[in-house]
Amino acid sequence: MLNKEYEVIIIGGSYAGLSAAMALGRSLRNVLVIDAGSPCNQQTPHSHNFLTQDGETPANIYKKAFDQVRQYKTIDFLEDFATEASKTDTGFTVRTKNNQTFSTKKLIISSGIKDQMPDIDGFSSSWGISVIHCPYCHGYEFRNEATGIFANGEEAMHYVKLLSQLTNKLSIFTNGPALFTEEQKVVFNQKGIAVIETPIKKINHQNGYLNSVQLADGQEHKLKALYARLPFKQHSAIPEQLGCTFSKNGFVEVSPMQETSVEGVFACGDNSNPMRSVANAVYTGNFAGASVNSKLAEESFNRVK
Ligand SMILES: Cc1cc2nc3c(=O)[nH]c(=O)nc-3n(C[C@H](O)[C@H](O)[C@H](O)COP(=O)(O)OP(=O)(O)OC[C@H]3O[C@@H](n4cnc5c(N)ncnc54)[C@H](O)[C@@H]3O)c2cc1C
Repeated sequence: MLNKEYEVIIIGGSYAGLSAAMALGRSLRNVLVIDAGSPCNQQTPHSHNFLTQDGETPANIYKKAFDQVRQYKTIDFLEDFATEASKTDTGFTVRTKNNQTFSTKKLIISSGIKDQMPDIDGFSSSWGISVIHCPYCHGYEFRNEATGIFANGEEAMHYVKLLSQLTNKLSIFTNGPALFTEEQKVVFNQKGIAVIETPIKKINHQNGYLNSVQLADGQEHKLKALYARLPFKQHSAIPEQLGCTFSKNGFVEVSPMQETSVEGVFACGDNSNPMRSVANAVYTGNFAGASVNSKLAEESFNRVK
């Protein structure tokens, strides 16, 4: 049976949210973690670049984290989607899809982001498997392989610099007119990097593992991996509802203490940070938990004065 009032409600209980919960549970705070169970990396077969869990499945990392956090008895868990939050005199009210309402003194929003897939046949089925966003997460597994970059301009150039360390078989798919400087074109020529402007029509793959990309003019390019940084939307509308400010790139803006522009509302993980990784989600979550605990402690002492 859940309480109706908590000291902290955490919206989003994946890596960032569980990490915040652990810090708060270890401080004996009454916490409710509301999670809808759809982390952004769920399709990726193996997660990399997080110490002690390198190569583990995302689900196993989550399960181990959840099993550890649930040992702290002041933490409750709810499988649901938080639809609304509003400010009250004492904190916030949170409502969920299943019509539950809770009140809390502080809010931590660790709701992640949702990648917006392009309308290319086979793209979303290969996302996180061989169509990937991060060289640190998956680049090593595709080292020395024929690799495409689905990007244009400065973003493509950034990928070229990082990926040249992993393979010399690079090509760029700009999906329309290329936006490169003369200097960049010289670099591509020197490194033998083809720039292909014809849009990609289809990703040919087997269970998400790329064989080739097929272009709108029928040409096929054999590839093992394709890098893409996709546009995204916030997974939750709650930061916007509460009036949090956002960066021009769409991240929730936070202070060095992980607090948003709305007092008492904290954010952590992918929703507020472009350095997208499990390690970073765990770090910012842990820090948000400690910040909230410290704030609650300060406030209880202020009341005594
Ligand atoms: C395809 C892919 C592969 C990746 N591979 C790696 C890798 O190999 N190594 C690595 O370090 N990083 C990897 N990453 C990055 C890493 O997965 C993310 O940085 C990390 O998952 C972010 O954690 P998070 O807790 O902020 O968000 P998420 O893990 O996305 O979790 C957000 C959670 O919040 C829940 N939620 C959202 N809104 C609500 C709401 N309103 N109410 C209730 N619940 C809500 C969601 O259901 C979800 O469970 C990968 C990312 C992608 C997309």
